[in-house]
Amino acid sequence: MVGEAPVPLLIQGMVVHRLLMIAGLAAAQMALAADVEWQVHGGNAAEMRHSPLTQVNTRNVGDLGLAWAADFDSARGQEATPLVVDGVIYSSSSWSNVYAFDARSGRRLWKFDARVPGEAAVHACCDVVNRGVAYSNGRIFVGTLDGRLIALNARTGKAIWSVMTVDPIQPYTVTGAPRIIKGKVLIGNGGAEFGVRGYVSAYDTATGKLVWRFYTVPGNPTDPAEAPVLRRAAQTWNGEWWKAGGGGTVWDSMAYDPQLDLLYIGVGNGSPWNQRLRSPGGGDNLFLSSIVALRPETGTYVWHYQTTPGEMWDYTATQHIILADLVIGGVKRHVLMQAPKNGFFYVLDRADGKLLSADAYSKINWASGVDLDTGRPRMNPEANYAVSGKPWLASPGPLGAHNWHPMSFDPQTGLVFIPTFELAFPYVPDEHFQRSNMAVNLGVDLNAASLPQEPQAKSAVLESVRGHLIAWDPVGKKKVWDVVYPAAWNGGVLSTAGGVVFQGDAGGHISAYQASDGVKLWSFNTEEGIVAPPIAYSANGEQYILVAAGWGGVYPLLTGEIALKSSRAGHVGRLLAFKLGARSELPKQSNATVTRAVEPKSFGDEATVQRGKGLYQRFCGGCHGDAAVSGGVLPDLRRSSYASSGAAWNNIVLEGALRERGMVSFSAELSREDSEAVRAYVAMRAVESSASTAH
Ligand code: CA
Repeated sequence: MVGEAPVPLLIQGMVVHRLLMIAGLAAAQMALAADVEWQVHGGNAAEMRHSPLTQVNTRNVGDLGLAWAADFDSARGQEATPLVVDGVIYSSSSWSNVYAFDARSGRRLWKFDARVPGEAAVHACCDVVNRGVAYSNGRIFVGTLDGRLIALNARTGKAIWSVMTVDPIQPYTVTGAPRIIKGKVLIGNGGAEFGVRGYVSAYDTATGKLVWRFYTVPGNPTDPAEAPVLRRAAQTWNGEWWKAGGGGTVWDSMAYDPQLDLLYIGVGNGSPWNQRLRSPGGGDNLFLSSIVALRPETGTYVWHYQTTPGEMWDYTATQHIILADLVIGGVKRHVLMQAPKNGFFYVLDRADGKLLSADAYSKINWASGVDLDTGRPRMNPEANYAVSGKPWLASPGPLGAHNWHPMSFDPQTGLVFIPTFELAFPYVPDEHFQRSNMAVNLGVDLNAASLPQEPQAKSAVLESVRGHLIAWDPVGKKKVWDVVYPAAWNGGVLSTAGGVVFQGDAGGHISAYQASDGVKLWSFNTEEGIVAPPIAYSANGEQYILVAAGWGGVYPLLTGEIALKSSRAGHVGRLLAFKLGARSELPKQSNATVTRAVEPKSFGDEATVQRGKGLYQRFCGGCHGDAAVSGGVLPDLRRSSYASSGAAWNNIVLEGALRERGMVSFSAELSREDSEAVRAYVAMRAVESSASTAH
């Protein structure tokens, strides 16, 4: 079923050390001969996230125990894939800080504080997360939330150079891991919910000088096009899209094939979501939601495949890209695989971008399938809320059937292990859309999409939310096994040559499953939700499984009570390392989120409360949670002592007293009267929820 593992790709990044000692490094940083590390983000350039280590395997994985824990300094979401290079672990944390730890003991060697201004958080759709660092030639590279790219000395953690990769006036953020190709460090950005134009940039690793930049959406056609292909792309847009930015941010996935010398990037959603407001009259809107192949030397366009033409549901194609060789119909094909948000699993020929297969890996109602001749989805016309002007209850919703949490590919079984979930969403066109710099600009009414508070309707929604770990056969085009979780937003995946698949979950466990059939072999209570993907490495001949625990991301910020379902939060993030026979106790943590209980008292008339609800959902709910219910990462406003005092509340909401923590002043958008209306709504919700048994 599966061809030989692409050995040259596997060797890249998973360097087998031939030196017993590396001169100039401290004893703590030495790696033993034949240690297998994790030197690049996806485990190898093909981003398989599959470790060749076999010491931990299906027979003994039950004997895994905690070797050590090492704390970060923040309780926000931890999404990083750590790297392990020459016996040292390098990991970013939330707020873009970087840490180095001894790979055997977990002892902290240094910390780099990126000093991200708290204000940067207001432009982050999806928490102040960072998904990892890159290593090259004694340097660590990190992208920061406020848009910088920084090179650090890997030994000392001291900055060597720092460049600003975005226009700091615009609501860009950087959360993705840089990648290194041929002496260049590549970095994208996010911000499509706020209204930016996406691109990916390449900088010289030595100097930080910009080498090239590829824009994923065309600019104003009266200006010179930055690349010839953008003139062609502009023909797929209408109206004055450049004024809204267009979106198409490259906020996570990249992969590289050294034989074809092609860099693959995953491109994000349109901005605003509602296509009528972005490109009236429709159009494919290239290169939104596309996989684009570029030359890494120059950033020159080679080919693209668009997963969701005319994208309007936040169906990004930024999800993890894996390169592999598969035997399809008796022919060995060099393929690229992706399970983007839209719910179809795509297999492309990675030389030319030809679609080989596209099959639903989750519940889908926006399209009935994909035409293999044209490569286009057969869209359900009702899904086009932008044209119909009518609400559409979509599966998947804007968080996708699979989000950023990486999948893995096991060349031995030929299976792809995907962390998926079911979370429908009602797209209601926003009739009164007005752009704001203080809120997401979607053209979709988040107030109308709020979780119903009527108990039966609410529990029906809560019941419908599920998480899965599925094993997908990309040749047979079908699901082979399925582990069901009670909640969505579980962690990324690692598979190993020991026949084991590792995944953390929202409920605060890391578990091991048998790759062949999904049988659970081991589980450990981490007491904190996990979204990050585990990695495997060996140090001094011992195999470790390493994962960052730390609940967060857009799901707990935005979805409120839905995110509380079967999740655990509230602790400072930490790295947890496991090995065979280890029996360390999980160190105790105090709750990072301190909330003082206040007796809730409602005030304001019904009209004020309703106006406050609209303002809350527009300006506050994206971080503090739908219907004023915190999903566990930020303090719950209903229990905040600040909400009980108008003076304290306005000091924060209007004066920006907590800007250092990311809560900027909203005085540009909210009057004192508005601010009080929001407080009246929060107070009403506090009374309402203390009266019910709900959270
Ligand atoms: Ca998005």
